[in-house]
Amino acid sequence: MSAAMAAGGVTVRSAGEPRRRRIELHVRGVVQGVGFRPFVHRLAVRHALSGWVRNESGEVCIALEGDETEIAAFVSELRREAPPLARIDALEMEPREPDGTEGFAIALSGASPDRRLPISPDVGLCAACETELYDPANRRYRYPFITCTDCGPRFTVIEDMPYDRERTSMRAFTQCAACLDEYRNPVDRRYHSQTNACAACGPRVALLSPGGAGSALDEAALREAADRLRSGGIVAIRGLGGFHLAVDATNVDAIDRLRERKGREAKPLAVMVRRLDEARALAHVDAREADLLQSRERPIVLLRRRSICALAPGVAPGLGTVGVMLAYTPLHHLLLDAVSRPLVMTSGNHSDEPIATGNGEALRRLDGIADAFLVHDREIVARHDDSLLRVVDGAPVFLRRARGYAPLPVRLPIAAPQGIVAVARI
Ligand SMILES: [Zn+2]
Ligand SMILES: [Zn+2]
Repeated sequence: MSAAMAAGGVTVRSAGEPRRRRIELHVRGVVQGVGFRPFVHRLAVRHALSGWVRNESGEVCIALEGDETEIAAFVSELRREAPPLARIDALEMEPREPDGTEGFAIALSGASPDRRLPISPDVGLCAACETELYDPANRRYRYPFITCTDCGPRFTVIEDMPYDRERTSMRAFTQCAACLDEYRNPVDRRYHSQTNACAACGPRVALLSPGGAGSALDEAALREAADRLRSGGIVAIRGLGGFHLAVDATNVDAIDRLRERKGREAKPLAVMVRRLDEARALAHVDAREADLLQSRERPIVLLRRRSICALAPGVAPGLGTVGVMLAYTPLHHLLLDAVSRPLVMTSGNHSDEPIATGNGEALRRLDGIADAFLVHDREIVARHDDSLLRVVDGAPVFLRRARGYAPLPVRLPIAAPQGIVAVARI
């Protein structure tokens, strides 16, 4: 694409004199809740462009002013370097009169939020956050709700669009000074990360007894939950889209007890482990299955169970298969580390009821099933089960399409062969 085309029209340039231009860009697709505005800000600074970016209903709107060559470079890099979770479906450009604006800002969102927008699905813990979670020098060392613009809850915490913190269940937590510094720093990975939090200001975990009494907090809650699991207890764990019921997947009696209390006599139970090699110890995993297990969507993948493995037979009675998923929240990682064995993680409900999401609801509905409740105080806005896939002839087939995939449409729009899907209105 030539500079003149990208800048939105035919240009007549005097030799050696870059022309100052202003354009407005309207970007549609999955562009909210995926770190798109911070990315736009960085790109504008890189090209010395002034203007602003803001979430509008149904799109992200960008005003750019500066050298037309730089604007053209910005537009082509916008698509090429978009954040991993973003998907640009359409991009429109409109010319504007330059007004001499200085600097580039992330503006407040426009009005009229629209719930029909594509909202990013929840995303499993990213590699950068996982490294920080286990780095004793990091201020979020072992913090169970570490996130950044590339990972964490989205669909399950967003109440309305546009995606800003005040329209999510993170609204209840006011960022501390250290978190705010990151949030406001354009070169930080957490710049405008709406789920940004730390142990000083963010959600916390607690361990409750049936009935709601308790309660151990934070590290003590994690330790106690792990002890319960290691000794065969059933622990209800509040996750992203609802509660799981967890139990030691190697403990025959504990699994029998879970089945009896849950009224789920013969249906197979999903198992969670932390690492791919732990999944391989339980089941045969081919290359395609390994990719799915480790994908940011983190579905349950139905695998061929090893004839000799640590799993209690009651996990999937009479079947040669087992559903396995890798840990996808920081809380899962910390818990699995502490338990150091595979856990059954089945949805927190009685058979044929929907999964429980609220703390009070879980205490009520899972009374008589769970021996303890590992809860947190980040409210779940949207109920969501784990997705379940199996690979058939090398291709993934959905048995249940939910967390990590929904609410994106099943058929993704066909990607443009190159460049920008542009509808120039000039
Ligand atoms: Zn992250
Ligand atoms: Zn903080």
